[in-house]
Amino acid sequence: MSSPSSKPILRFAPSPNGRLHLGHAYSALYTWQAAARLGGTALLRMEDTDPERCKPEFAQAIVDDLHWLGLDWPQPIMVQSQRFPIYAEAANQLRDADLLYPCFCSRSEIATKAKGTDPDGAPLYPGTCRHMSRSEQIERLQRGDPVQFRLDTASAITCTGLLTFTAIGPLVTDRPQIRYARPERWGDVVLQRKGTPTSYHLSVVVDDAAQGVTHVTRGRDMEPATDFHVLLQFLLGLPSPIYNFHRLILDAEGRKLSKSKGSPTLASLRDAGRTPQDIRQELGF
Ligand code: GLU
Repeated sequence: MSSPSSKPILRFAPSPNGRLHLGHAYSALYTWQAAARLGGTALLRMEDTDPERCKPEFAQAIVDDLHWLGLDWPQPIMVQSQRFPIYAEAANQLRDADLLYPCFCSRSEIATKAKGTDPDGAPLYPGTCRHMSRSEQIERLQRGDPVQFRLDTASAITCTGLLTFTAIGPLVTDRPQIRYARPERWGDVVLQRKGTPTSYHLSVVVDDAAQGVTHVTRGRDMEPATDFHVLLQFLLGLPSPIYNFHRLILDAEGRKLSKSKGSPTLASLRDAGRTPQDIRQELGF
């Protein structure tokens, strides 16, 4: 946690895997408004660790869309794809503590054996590779079998005691609340994806700490993931920011906007003649 005298730092951290929609615009405007209320600064960070889905042209379009909305941020922008050795080092810290293990399961093997789902509705990892012998691990790694690395969450939790984090309400200057984190409901999360030295969860906690982020503003759908982030912060000896979960922008059917469902992009709204003022007004800013 930051010392009381340090300046609040917030961030907007989109993944450049498509164009921004109104849900992103809300999150960005909310973050800049919260930063202003706290007398702090909002940073932009590109979470582009997935080389297959993230594209430089989407990153540029995010910058353009945010500028169009009237937002600005200090330079340089942190770009996660330029920081792989830093994430690898954090993963090694967990490996040295014997908390990271190689997993060779395919998606379909996991789906078949899973006995439940995680808070995002994905099959909970059944633990197949958790107790693989060292010799088999070495043999399969040497053979070049596709591998990802998972946290042994149950073992990790035995060293943490009760985990908590601080959350604050929508005005961000409200009285803080202490929440209990329940990382166990995520099971053994992948921290290094196939062919990549990191995953979203690992990079996000490393970078929030690296950027001195004091307040994380994110959508309510990200509240469960925060439980896992708090666990990683504990294990890596990183500070835990204050969290604030904002409302989600829903479509006419009450579903969260998303790139995959083809929600209208800011670019398409702009092309249809909507102004930044229209967008701000529609979103309540
Ligand atoms: N990069 C994440 C996303 O695109 C959000 C980052 C966060 O708030 O942790 O949804």
